[in-house]
Amino acid sequence: MVSHPVLVVGSIAIDWLEFSDGRQDQVVGGSATYFTLAASLFAPVHVVGVVGSDFPEEAMDVFRKHGANLDDLQVVQGKTFRWGGRYGADLESRTTLFTELGVFEDFQPLLSPENRRCPVIFLGNIQPSLQLKVLDQAEHPKKQVVCDTMNLWIKTARNDLLRVLERVDVLLLSEREAVLLTDVTDPAHAGDRIRDMGPSTVVVKRGHLGSVMVTESGAIRAGVFPVPDVVDPTGAGDSFAGGFVGTLAGGSSLAEALLCGSAVASYCVEGFGTAGLETLSRSHVSHRMDVIRERSKLP
Ligand code: AMP
Repeated sequence: MVSHPVLVVGSIAIDWLEFSDGRQDQVVGGSATYFTLAASLFAPVHVVGVVGSDFPEEAMDVFRKHGANLDDLQVVQGKTFRWGGRYGADLESRTTLFTELGVFEDFQPLLSPENRRCPVIFLGNIQPSLQLKVLDQAEHPKKQVVCDTMNLWIKTARNDLLRVLERVDVLLLSEREAVLLTDVTDPAHAGDRIRDMGPSTVVVKRGHLGSVMVTESGAIRAGVFPVPDVVDPTGAGDSFAGGFVGTLAGGSSLAEALLCGSAVASYCVEGFGTAGLETLSRSHVSHRMDVIRERSKLP
């Protein structure tokens, strides 16, 4: 089956990553970057975002190599969005060291006529007010909208986020974010609460414990592919989203999309930045999906 094109809006960043045994700076990252590399394995990806004049041409080439449509990627005078994070020794906990908006400060997403008609939309992690601006321009009569968010927006832009959720079909979020949004600790129950806010499907990601997807038919759980040496968890959530949305755009079921998200995320964490995604193939992913299916007892 031919895949529908997927429109993504999100951050494109230069990251600074600190680990207990060293540091990686000038790493190209951002929610839209990880998503694009992951989703483009399965579907054509159209990027909506902004970078500054300092964004390296080689990084732009990575987007091009993955066939991304860059018509609505704005390149403006100034500095690209920068984010710094520090990981604990277990690589589970992460603290934000700094967020420098740079050219994101004045970013106004503007969709081309072609991009307005994209049937599948992924609202990657950025300010909910920007996610709303993209939704306002979308014109496809039967669009499918998948959304990601983070603790920062749940705390500081809750009302805007709730307005986004009313217009979303699927919300992907981490277990911590689900608790923050609902005050409910059990992931399946939290998913039910979030369904009352708008999305018909909620996926709660639980790191190495896998994920729980809540739909009108109840909750299903997927495990993870056991990665022996996690190198860098940055972007795992966005890569999960890329695998999930990319396969959905190709007509897969939600259960299949859940397995695919989990498989793609397992490759992301094996390298620094986007390295784990850059040489990935569909057959790699499908092998890990089989392993996860077996471990999850999914059909
Ligand atoms: P993840 O590990 O899936 O949560 O994604 C990490 C990516 O999110 C990094 O590459 C960051 O550049 C990006 N990021 C971190 N904070 C923000 C933010 N406030 N807005 C947009 N993107 C962010």
